Amino acid sequence: MQIAERDGKLDIRSMLPEELAEWLAANGEKKFRAGQIFRWLTEGAADFAAMTDLSAALREKLGERFFLTPPTVLREQRSERDGTVKYLWRLADGNAVESVLMRYSYGDSACISTQVGCRMGCAFCASTGMGRVRDLLPSEMLDQVRGIELRAGVKISRIVLMGIGEPLDNFENVLRFLELVNRPEGMNLGMRHISLSTCGLTEGIDKLARYRLQCTLSVSLHAPDDETRDKIVPANRGRGVKELMRACRDYYEATGRRVSFEYAVIRGVNDSPEQAKRLAALVKPIGGHVNLIPLNEVEGSPLLPGDTRAFAARLKDLGVNATVRRRLGADIDAACGQLRRKQATGNR
Ligand code: SAH
Repeated sequence: MQIAERDGKLDIRSMLPEELAEWLAANGEKKFRAGQIFRWLTEGAADFAAMTDLSAALREKLGERFFLTPPTVLREQRSERDGTVKYLWRLADGNAVESVLMRYSYGDSACISTQVGCRMGCAFCASTGMGRVRDLLPSEMLDQVRGIELRAGVKISRIVLMGIGEPLDNFENVLRFLELVNRPEGMNLGMRHISLSTCGLTEGIDKLARYRLQCTLSVSLHAPDDETRDKIVPANRGRGVKELMRACRDYYEATGRRVSFEYAVIRGVNDSPEQAKRLAALVKPIGGHVNLIPLNEVEGSPLLPGDTRAFAARLKDLGVNATVRRRLGADIDAACGQLRRKQATGNR
């Protein structure tokens, strides 16, 4: 993969140890230093001067060729109810993205963003209005995870790519990020502890399936029929639910990993008994799990939450493996995109 450049300097935090080793060898340095440098980067070193087990000359050389600009925190909000913490980070170019720390009994999870904004245009989403500004670099995704660890004093054991952005619309950078966190010399996080959430870019799902990674694929389905899904998830247009389910089945067959389906229950839109039946018919054949999300109301949107529990009961009666997502951080706007949106509209 092409490593990004800024002002003639390379993004060292997006590089794998073997790429660092190659650069070192080409620049008259010992290859094994790559391991030392990679460890410093994994720990979240803020500058090359901190890498005290490297010679001053090498640190200087690194500073000339590479950039290292961890984000700074703009806002941090902690839920009094459940310990959820929401972060708004300022990136080197002045853009802002969000991440959320969620504290579960089985470990601390980081929900991170993959793009600045999003161009998928889902009707219920807080990130829709402002479009996509740019893709995040692998280093900028890594920085969110490490930033949370350093600020909250926790060890992240799960990552969900469910913040702002569409991960499969930033495929190469997301793939490199997965590789970086998975590396034993790095964070050493197992692929099974990572979930990637997509609005259903089928060509991206197909591409991901070819890597046979063990990460969980979460598909934001939200409607079982094209008529409804075309309206609320525009990425459905030209692809369709049938083709999406084909891609999910292939993903399951290629990886052995069951696909999980996100479904925000919206009153009068996707919550009818008929839609529950159609949903059951889609997911049961591939052993899919349905994760029902209580709709977070977004200012200015006419969409209202439906009765999630009633819909869940209906699905269970139909033999579907369905759960209702707990609302973490409801008191701190921890729902997708809401903090960045407030920042941009000046509405606090
Ligand atoms: N683009 C990816 C990941 C980001 S969105 C995707 O579409 O999956 C993460 C999840 O939050 C998705 O399931 C999305 O549909 C859901 N979501 C977005 N806005 C929401 C809202 N207002 N209420 C409930 N869920 C929402």
